[in-house]
Amino acid sequence: MSNHTARLFNFSAGPAVLPLPVLEQAQRDLLALPGVGMSVLEISHRSKPFEEICFAAEEDFARLAGLPAGYKVLFLQGGATLQFSMVPMNLLPAGGQADYVDTGVWSAKAIQEARKVGQVNVIASSKGTNHDRVPAAAGIRPTAAPAYVHMTSNNTIFGTQFHFVPEVAPEIPLVNDASSDIFCRPVDFSKFALVYAGGQKNLSIAGITVVVVREDLLERAPQEIPVYLRYATHAKERSLYNTPPVFGIYILHLVLRHLLAEGGLAAAGARNERKAGKLYAAIDGSGGFYRGHAQPDSRSWMNVTFRLPSEELEKRFVSEATAQGLDGLKGHRSVGGIRASIYNAFPEAGVDALVGFMSDFQRRAG
Ligand SMILES: *Cc1c(COP(=O)(O)O)cnc(C)c1O
Repeated sequence: MSNHTARLFNFSAGPAVLPLPVLEQAQRDLLALPGVGMSVLEISHRSKPFEEICFAAEEDFARLAGLPAGYKVLFLQGGATLQFSMVPMNLLPAGGQADYVDTGVWSAKAIQEARKVGQVNVIASSKGTNHDRVPAAAGIRPTAAPAYVHMTSNNTIFGTQFHFVPEVAPEIPLVNDASSDIFCRPVDFSKFALVYAGGQKNLSIAGITVVVVREDLLERAPQEIPVYLRYATHAKERSLYNTPPVFGIYILHLVLRHLLAEGGLAAAGARNERKAGKLYAAIDGSGGFYRGHAQPDSRSWMNVTFRLPSEELEKRFVSEATAQGLDGLKGHRSVGGIRASIYNAFPEAGVDALVGFMSDFQRRAG
């Protein structure tokens, strides 16, 4: 018996909504993987069935991404947060400098961790306008010879997103925290030396972090860093150096197959642009009742942030929306207001429901 009708529209910023067919398959396979007789949670990560899942996830990731040769895809633990430390530990040599673009709370945390390893230059920042935009392309100018440039392509909390890849000289590695917008549309991975993403927003579940790293960076890490924290350790063992996040890898594999079946990243991009467009149109068409936080050219396709005329109305908006099955709309405390997170797996019908609710709420309260 199906009870899908009991599922709410889940606007959570993360952990976030997963595709329904993925949940259904995980549910079917939970007691016994077909042909295996045990679940993915109970078998050795050295077993053939698990290796097949893990390597298929790696290959499907590369296929979906259109990943050029010369990159490794790694399945790690520790969230995007551990990457804030692993990136500088591996790539920032003693006495070196790294350039960071500061576009919000997550970039600030990345900067804070990198400062423990070496010198950080904040080469562009949107702090002065409470991160309501990403810096213009012309405003991002790397220093003379940084070890790398670090950016955050989508700012989950503020609802801003880069709609361009910053220009850096080809010899400077560009590193991207893509936790909240990876695979939201086609992306040219050849422009990046390293991309990382925590799993629980657009890829899989909490507990898996995907890192895509160009092979020539692998040997840069100093010898004395802990073995788990070296990218080279995981690249050499195809993510099976130690027990990997097995359930996260399994769910990732299902999500990737689902995305491929739905037409790949071009189709995902078209769906996401349309979904976000409907919400921004509702904001812009409200005569100022709803006010978007992000400047139009920096608006995120994944996290739509907006305010109402008063905090009291915002509270009412959230509680009435919740009562109508629109869950998780309360904004982050650093922006306030409303945040609608509409990742890849968020259904368009949920966007339509929110647009309808916004118009109805304004009519009653405006
Ligand atoms: C959620 C998020 C993080 C933190 O991820 P964890 O997996 O909780 O460590 C980092 N960066 C961005 C852009 C995020 O959205």
